[in-house]
Amino acid sequence: MWLLLLVLGLAAGSFLNVVSLRYDPNRFLFARPVIGGRSRCIHCGTTLRWFELIPLISFVLQRGKCRRCKARLTLQYPVVELLSGLIFVFVPLRLSSLFYILHSTFYILSALWILALLTLLTAALIDFRLRIIPDECNALLVLAGAGVALLTPVADGAGGSLLHSYGILMFASQNIWLNKLLGFLAGGLGLLALLAVTRGRGMGFGDVKLAAALGALFGWPDIAVLVGMSFVFGAAAGILSVAARRKTLKSALPFGPFLGLAAAFMFFAGFEFVGWYLRVLVG
Ligand SMILES: [Zn+2]
Repeated sequence: MWLLLLVLGLAAGSFLNVVSLRYDPNRFLFARPVIGGRSRCIHCGTTLRWFELIPLISFVLQRGKCRRCKARLTLQYPVVELLSGLIFVFVPLRLSSLFYILHSTFYILSALWILALLTLLTAALIDFRLRIIPDECNALLVLAGAGVALLTPVADGAGGSLLHSYGILMFASQNIWLNKLLGFLAGGLGLLALLAVTRGRGMGFGDVKLAAALGALFGWPDIAVLVGMSFVFGAAAGILSVAARRKTLKSALPFGPFLGLAAAFMFFAGFEFVGWYLRVLVG
């Protein structure tokens, strides 16, 4: 079962690589020129054979080079395939540790969170390459959020918050739909305010839309922790890249990937992190 999930995840990752590397802002994300057609080497243009398209394995066997022109292939290929594989395996594990869920609901809820995290990975890759976050990604996140609101158990009184009782401390409503609506507003308005304060340095309206969509997916108060974490990650990366003299303070990194990273952190470790934080703060 887990092996099957891993293989599915690797294959999905190879699809995400194609979408994120071929995406053109003037086209729909899933337009035929983006997702259709045979895969080619981006350096020499040769059509790839089936044995050159096996996730991870082809890359390792070819030592990261095109078989014909010997050009070095981007590390994005194996890294994204592996990340996607891990998402497929660890999302169901995490959900089963967070909630007591009946079988059929569990499968659909797992699929929704997998879809959401893969969407975020795609958005992050496109933001890195083009400094754009496609609206299609935001729409998918909101749709996944509606499904999550419909299926997440709310018996703990925290309205679907992944933080459970800590969520109640942070004013989660018992109504999951109200939490998702509040999250949408808090994410969007919060980043809009920060955009105004920072005057757009390293941040753009695309990040405002992504934060609103993440708010609809995670709900209140999880989105507040998520946005806070994204700033911690962003600041840490900023300091590191300036220290490494790779960037000056002015050539800021795109912010979308940090929102995506914080979302993954929130999903996989948010509950434990907030618990630890409160213990340090109170004790
Ligand atoms: Zn080539």
